[in-house]
Amino acid sequence: MAKQRHVIVGGGTAGLNAILAIREHDRGASEIALVSAERPYARMVLPYYLGRSIAESHVFTLPPARLAQLGVTDHIGRRAVSLDAAANTLTLDDGTVVAYDDLLIATGSSAVSISWRHFHASNRSRADELTSHRLARAIAPKTSAMRRRRSENLEAMVV
Ligand SMILES: Cc1cc2nc3c(=O)[nH]c(=O)nc-3n(C[C@H](O)[C@H](O)[C@H](O)COP(=O)(O)OP(=O)(O)OC[C@H]3O[C@@H](n4cnc5c(N)ncnc54)[C@H](O)[C@@H]3O)c2cc1C
Repeated sequence: MAKQRHVIVGGGTAGLNAILAIREHDRGASEIALVSAERPYARMVLPYYLGRSIAESHVFTLPPARLAQLGVTDHIGRRAVSLDAAANTLTLDDGTVVAYDDLLIATGSSAVSISWRHFHASNRSRADELTSHRLARAIAPKTSAMRRRRSENLEAMVV
């Protein structure tokens, strides 16, 4: 009998927990494919990264060895761009077509944009992405700049 094919779109907390739950339940009996535009990481630890309590390596949740251990085929760095729900196929931004029996769309939501001058200058205005936190660390050597802006009642980082 063919293995059940689970496809998960999104490598955030929801995607990670879906993978762990499937594996806890089926102990490797099914196929899992993960499509994620970004390397899987936990957004909720970004403030610790920004505040320099943890290194960047600690934000990532599913490194390649862990994906292999869980038996997950990955399409990391690829975006899902269209879905054919009648044919049960998902098309990625490189044209790859992924067939599924079950599909979980766990692509999260969008944060409110912020309008700090520095973020705008570099077209990085989302506060929920690792890339924005990398930039914020670079322009605010300690987090004092952020606190100062909050106390001046200017723009704030909205999560
Ligand atoms: C700075 C910060 C601090 C937070 N702190 C906390 C906290 O302390 N406690 C708490 O409970 N929550 C916290 N949150 C909220 C928490 O991080 C989110 O609720 C959680 O990340 C949502 O998980 P998710 O998997 O639904 O989505 P996300 O984590 O947003 O993941 C979505 C994934 O989908 C991928 N994706 C999007 N579109 C596509 C596409 N078309 N194709 C392929 N992949 C795609 C993205 O690259 C990403 O990997 C915080 C959030 C932020 C930003």
